Amino acid sequence: MARINDNFLKLKAGYLFPEIGRRVSAFTEANPEAVKNLIRCGIGDVTEPLPEACRKAMHDAVDEQGKSETFRGYGPEQGYEFLRDAIIENQFTGLGISADEIFISDGSKCDTGNILDIFGPGNRIAITDPVYPVYVDTNVMSGNTGEADENGAFDGLVYLPCTAENNFVPAIPEGEKIDLIYLCYPNNPTGGSATREQLAAWVAFARENDAIIFYDAAYEAFIQEEDVPRSIFEIEGAKDCAIEFRSFSKNGGFTGTRCAYTIIPKQLTGQDADGNEQAIHSLWSRRHSTKFNGASYPVQRAAAAVFSEEGKAQVSKLVTGYMGNAKLLREACEKIGLSVWGGINAPYVWVGCPEGVDSWGMFDRMLNEANVVITPGSGFGAAGEGYFRISAFNSRANVEEVCRRIEENLG
Ligand SMILES: *Cc1c(COP(=O)(O)O)cnc(C)c1O
Repeated sequence: MARINDNFLKLKAGYLFPEIGRRVSAFTEANPEAVKNLIRCGIGDVTEPLPEACRKAMHDAVDEQGKSETFRGYGPEQGYEFLRDAIIENQFTGLGISADEIFISDGSKCDTGNILDIFGPGNRIAITDPVYPVYVDTNVMSGNTGEADENGAFDGLVYLPCTAENNFVPAIPEGEKIDLIYLCYPNNPTGGSATREQLAAWVAFARENDAIIFYDAAYEAFIQEEDVPRSIFEIEGAKDCAIEFRSFSKNGGFTGTRCAYTIIPKQLTGQDADGNEQAIHSLWSRRHSTKFNGASYPVQRAAAAVFSEEGKAQVSKLVTGYMGNAKLLREACEKIGLSVWGGINAPYVWVGCPEGVDSWGMFDRMLNEANVVITPGSGFGAAGEGYFRISAFNSRANVEEVCRRIEENLG
């Protein structure tokens, strides 16, 4: 009989979102009238439509595909030059990144998971707690962990707690050998951002330890404060120790359209079994061109349109709308006396539960008393217990209604 990859059996059966679904179904069955009032602020998905500039570029590209003179078959696996050049020009000017260090893909979820293909076994891998679950589960699938304990923490991973005390940026581990570190700023789920000094400390740590930072900057476009770094490559020396993941999902609303990219500096190296340094860029290039045939041409045209004058204005409007939502949600929670983090440089508001109520307890209260679905912090890791996440990805009307209900029913 065909043998399976037993590592998959170690995965907790997707605990968080199924459990949310179960509780919401139980509630709506018991309160059929409440169904139409239910507002979902749980999932990290955008709600506003694709910018017009992107739709137009995509339409035009589809028309090009309809004429033999302009038809395109397989494109370059690494992505079209027009998109890689636009990215460099608009996102990385002055940072010394070149277009051939960019790999276009169909999503950062896949990229952050697939990157493990080119790293061997035996690495010490650090993740933040709470965390975007993809980082953990892909390491489990790759065989980089042991079994999960009763709290869902996997043996073999180094968990870096992020709490109110460290403002949700983990302390540098002391006396601990680490080879790979996942950092995500602005952060999902906590909505926090990292300062230049904090990122510089992580870069220094990585360089001293010959470690590599996987830097997930999916929420870069939501940064509002002046001195918050938008890229890890703004930090001196990061090109020797970091890979950055970017996506069009959250800024351009591409969650259903699919386009992202990964930046791997050519000077970044790892070690082979014989102790020789090997370029990470060439390994990823080999992996990418063997297992991937490029994002579709119309989608890459749509992504490039994010950087057109109209595109920039339309994206900026989307971001302003979502960040306005975040501000309203922050204020509503503060008004009823809850402690609030995030929502300043990211579209997530991270809220402390009231005394004596845990994350799931707060989930139930929000559902029963306000008919609002949020995400319990404990679902993102043990250190998320005592918090909940409200997503600002919603219409303004829904957010205003959520705020009204928070103040009226939970105050
Ligand atoms: C939404 C999100 C992404 C983007 O993933 P895509 O596959 O590009 O849609 C990446 N990282 C985090 C932490 C996210 O929340």
